[in-house]
Amino acid sequence: MYKIFQNVYFYPLKKTLVKVSDSKYEGNIDSIIENIPDAEYDDNKGVVYNDVSVKLPSSIQIYPTSNCNLRCKYCFNDSGNIEGRNLDFNKAKVFIEQAVRGLYIQKKTKGVCNPLELNMCGGGEPTYEWKLFQDIVDYAVYLTSKYEIPKKFQLTSNLFISNKEKLDYIIEKFDHVHISTDGSEEIQNYQRPAVGGRPSYPTVSNAIKYVSDGLAKKKALCGLRVTVSGKFVDKMEDIVEFVHSTYPNVRYIQFEPLNWVRKTQRTDDIEPPAVDRYSDSLLKAHKKCEEYNIQMDACFGGVDRILKKGSFCDAVLGHCLMLNYDGDIVNCGEASKDNPQTYKYFLVGHIDDEYKINWFDTPIKEPPKKETCTKCYAWYFCGGGCLHSILEYERNRQFRCALARETIKRTLSEIIEERWSAIGLNVRKQEYEEGNIIVYSW
Ligand code: SF4
Ligand code: SF4
Repeated sequence: MYKIFQNVYFYPLKKTLVKVSDSKYEGNIDSIIENIPDAEYDDNKGVVYNDVSVKLPSSIQIYPTSNCNLRCKYCFNDSGNIEGRNLDFNKAKVFIEQAVRGLYIQKKTKGVCNPLELNMCGGGEPTYEWKLFQDIVDYAVYLTSKYEIPKKFQLTSNLFISNKEKLDYIIEKFDHVHISTDGSEEIQNYQRPAVGGRPSYPTVSNAIKYVSDGLAKKKALCGLRVTVSGKFVDKMEDIVEFVHSTYPNVRYIQFEPLNWVRKTQRTDDIEPPAVDRYSDSLLKAHKKCEEYNIQMDACFGGVDRILKKGSFCDAVLGHCLMLNYDGDIVNCGEASKDNPQTYKYFLVGHIDDEYKINWFDTPIKEPPKKETCTKCYAWYFCGGGCLHSILEYERNRQFRCALARETIKRTLSEIIEERWSAIGLNVRKQEYEEGNIIVYSW
């Protein structure tokens, strides 16, 4: 239990807040709280991929190339400043075969038929080497169809594509397209320029309209990932407005604050948002999303999903594995050989030039907690933060920690103020002791 505000107590594992009218009612809280069951949560622990007999998880990602057609100012992969490399197609085939094999065995032995969840992503940009991209996707389609395994294919892309045949292919093959774009023309061109500093907005905007409309026709999902910098932090509500009027078939927006990465450290011309302004802006954006029936996702401020596994993200626990352009298998999308400082923590295996998978004895990763984490009211929803970003720069840890605490506190404040619809929460309110004790659970 945490005393979160004056006369307000927070029980994270019960997803409950209790407000008393006067501190003299504090002694009556325990008997009420013990009747509220713990909330449901997934506490699956991590997987260690160090055994040759182990099968791949059903959720895999493939990073075909380190090349990219954009030069985003905050690119975690330092696009344009690293050596361009492409994945050997035969290694991609081995990876897909292993994942399908595991699903097929499960189907035959347990009668459970889970889909192959394949996410094509980067950085670089997964569609940049178009033939390679297409070969990989076609092979995954072929194999899942041959063994009658259902499929769920996702593309994560900057969608800097003007060729209609390519956009049609994307609409046809994918069930979910997650587009990295930052909103209006001004923001997109400033934060995500094309090679040589050229504006990317016209091409990207046309492609988003075309693809989101095409996906809507086949009832597939299209959403945007928006990176928020210090310069445009107050524009989040405007971005929702813009998305609603420009791309009516986009179903969700995922807002993420910019982190310090190698590129931002070096260039120093863009920086993360201020914590209080980001928190204000996030709540306003949330309200706007509710108004327009757009789902809003954000890593910060969420109090609905308990991270009992003790990790901010599932991938680092091995529940999703990625094959990158070096033929390495990693459990973090931001890990790359070009960043040796963090790579050793995420390198799980390697497909060698004879196309054999070699697993390394990589222990399960957990964010190195600070002493303060275990006593923190945000722990069950924050999980200590993104492991890669905090291993990369200590200032990311400080920033993300402050952001998690502030956004969660503001969300709890919205619950106490009974503005639930603005944050998309379904809250139950119960009164005790003639209304002197009020319990909010969600
Ligand atoms: S689109 Fe992705 S990989 Fe390309 S420059 Fe931007 S952040 Fe980097
Ligand atoms: S908010 Fe900070 S102190 Fe609290 S759990 Fe997250 S990283 Fe740890």
